[in-house]
Amino acid sequence: MTELVERAFEGDRRALARLLSLVESGGPLARQALVELFPHTGQAHIVGMTGAPGVGKSSLVSVLAKVYRQRGRKVGIIAVDPTSPFTGGAILGDRIRMQDLSGDPGVFIRSMATRGSLGGLAWATRDAIKVLDAAGYQLILVETVGAGQSEVDIAAAADTTVVVTVPGLGDDVQAIKAGILEIADVFAVNKADLPGADQVTAALRMMLNLGASRPHQVWHHRTRMDMPALGASRDEPGWTPSICKTVALRGDGVAELADAIEHHREYLAETGLRQVRERARIRADFLDLLRHELLDRLLERVASEQVESLIDRVMARELDPYTAAGMVLGEDVKREM
Ligand code: GDP
Repeated sequence: MTELVERAFEGDRRALARLLSLVESGGPLARQALVELFPHTGQAHIVGMTGAPGVGKSSLVSVLAKVYRQRGRKVGIIAVDPTSPFTGGAILGDRIRMQDLSGDPGVFIRSMATRGSLGGLAWATRDAIKVLDAAGYQLILVETVGAGQSEVDIAAAADTTVVVTVPGLGDDVQAIKAGILEIADVFAVNKADLPGADQVTAALRMMLNLGASRPHQVWHHRTRMDMPALGASRDEPGWTPSICKTVALRGDGVAELADAIEHHREYLAETGLRQVRERARIRADFLDLLRHELLDRLLERVASEQVESLIDRVMARELDPYTAAGMVLGEDVKREM
């Protein structure tokens, strides 16, 4: 085994941090490391935490991590910030609230920010989850801002998705955008010290009851291949998302939130859905990898000038993109171009 992987597995935190950086940056060494650590993955319970900025995700994550530490689990935290494509620096995990966890050897915190594409972030997040899983972190909390596709990607990577909301966002359910309902396994109504928490809870409960009769409508435009790991629990009767009121600042309700998460974990295990979701996830990862590799290999064979010249011809409407793609894929590419 590579020395870096070995040292990370032995609990060397600096090696683990370097391994995460390596895996994030990609390339052949990253791939080698992932090959080595893959057999050790599949142990962790992966919990996604999502919600609008300011609802208290970071605060909740750090209190939740403490609760899990008290229960004897090693906790990995991945804070994903898809909202700052230009800063280049990660923001969420650097916050003060997380710092009181940083002295604990049983907690490892990693921040990740968008570098370019959201798709790249989703890859990096999935690989970081694998690293922490293989390194023995039993609970992995993945925190992300509720900003469209990223939260869906995170939900697809998680066993349990917690959607965090708060009272006082105007319309009681305004914060619960379409689509959020479908990805939530557990709801946290945070800032329950503020007025209106009961109304939010009631509104959520009502929406869940309504939603039960017309499941996963939001995903109709997507194929199962695109959304394989999502909606697995929603496809099956028997799971109603729990709603927990929390006050992250005081830690109120956070033990109950951890219980709700554990309850969902047991539900996944008992019904066999954990395996169903894992298989769907592995399948999606595998197909993604194949797509990626095939494109890379293809582009290696075709000169970029040839690609550009095809694009020019599509621009000039001499060619359509479908025929152009066919020409690149066809055996007679070289001659045609
Ligand atoms: P995030 O952007 O979702 O990660 O939210 P943060 O964890 O950064 O919290 C945003 C703000 O809400 C901070 O000022 C927190 O101190 C505050 N906050 C977090 N939890 C609570 C809570 O339960 N009650 C109240 N009143 N404020 C809270």
